[in-house]
Amino acid sequence: MSSNEEAFTTPEAGQLADAVDALFEASLTAVPESGIAALLREIETSTRRLAALGHRLLVEVCERSIPQRVGAGSPVRYLEETLLLSHADAVARVKAAKQLGTWHDVGGQALDAVLAHTAKAQAAGEISADHARVIAKITDRIPNGVSREDREAAEQILVELARSATPDDLPKAGERIIAHLDPDGTLTDDTDRARMRGVVLGRQRADGMSPIKGEITPMLRALLDPVLAKLARPGMCNPDDPQSPWTADDSVTREQVEEAAARDNRSVAQRNHDALQAFLRPEMGPDNLGSHRGLPVSAIFTMSVAELDQAAGVVTTASGGTVSIPEALKLAEKALPVLALFDHQGMPLHLGRGKRLANAAQRLALIAAERGCTRPGCNAPATLAAVHHITEWAEGGTTDIENLTLACDHCHALVSDGPGGWRTVKLGGDSDFPGRTGWIAPTHINPTGIPRVNLRHHSKELITQARSRIRAREERDALRHRRWLATRAHAPVAAAF
Ligand SMILES: [Zn+2]
Repeated sequence: MSSNEEAFTTPEAGQLADAVDALFEASLTAVPESGIAALLREIETSTRRLAALGHRLLVEVCERSIPQRVGAGSPVRYLEETLLLSHADAVARVKAAKQLGTWHDVGGQALDAVLAHTAKAQAAGEISADHARVIAKITDRIPNGVSREDREAAEQILVELARSATPDDLPKAGERIIAHLDPDGTLTDDTDRARMRGVVLGRQRADGMSPIKGEITPMLRALLDPVLAKLARPGMCNPDDPQSPWTADDSVTREQVEEAAARDNRSVAQRNHDALQAFLRPEMGPDNLGSHRGLPVSAIFTMSVAELDQAAGVVTTASGGTVSIPEALKLAEKALPVLALFDHQGMPLHLGRGKRLANAAQRLALIAAERGCTRPGCNAPATLAAVHHITEWAEGGTTDIENLTLACDHCHALVSDGPGGWRTVKLGGDSDFPGRTGWIAPTHINPTGIPRVNLRHHSKELITQARSRIRAREERDALRHRRWLATRAHAPVAAAF
């Protein structure tokens, strides 16, 4: 390689370096808070786009066989040597370029990226390299038998979620999408899960402690979640606090729990431990759990008539998990869980344990319709959400279902008319999501002021929508192709110019 080649770079790369220099030299002290946020956002967008640019360069590196020519052998080794990257970093970048880069066939024709939606969003700076990595990891797990259309729909949904969520939020959404893509469990069914189940109590150590590990079935999870939602709440069952409520019956007031929560310094793991300990005491047990946010503490399953008709697929639990329909029905026969069945309009048809639920019908309807906190990006399942007024009671809001929504305590506290506050609205018929609750973010998060919905708890609905979008696009393309063919057939010479 000549020294000439070594020094060659493009003028654009020089301009990029100049722009970064200018940013370093600029004084930030006079920039207002909103300006700092805007600058952070702009730099983040550029960083994301630069990562996508990296894929382009890596495609060149590989298609020109540069690693082989310079003796590095593989692109990973080439990156390690040229950029002094760690092995893990180099592997991750090559893998990302394979899935997100635009490669060419032997004739030089550009091929669509393997994850085309992800690649497009990253190149536009809408999602980060981290988002893309998590999306690739999830799509890798989609069973082979899933159709190309559904696979693309799943990717599209994940990209859509990634635009308003952190990479940490994606795996859970991915689990649910895969559960819906593989509803009959062709890959993993209840028998497989039953085989995998197990809880191992390790040998008690000299310090008195015992390790515990294992894997639990969706059903045990569905039964355990409500117990933890009630007894592992901050303030409950705290052995360090003599005033902490240990009984779960409804004589414990909200104020008592809140006061105890303010004194509670335990970790989530410690609270889970103490909740199990409390639950296993002879005077407790499942019959004495009382209610949690107005509904009995037991597994709450919601499913629609269509889902029940198919008797396949999964039902959603109020704690955000999924259980296969045959398993849920088996448990429902013993009337232990609350089984809420909804018609196509989302109206309750059957409420197990009817009389205890009389005044909780609205909450159940909200659980079925909204499934969790409605603020965009929030993962809190229905068990961690309370019913809130969209137009506050004090401002004339009614307690009709149209004016109610689920929000977790954290998100509800973000709602205010002040400059940093979120606002909620019921979306009208002209929206993509009529009847759903839209949240308007404060300007430092979303300067457009356009209300957004939480897509997190609705993977099935999203898949249907994405499928119809893909179908519409394919029909459009086919129509365009047919028209193009027609013009060529009628005027072959004119069409060529
Ligand atoms: Zn929330």
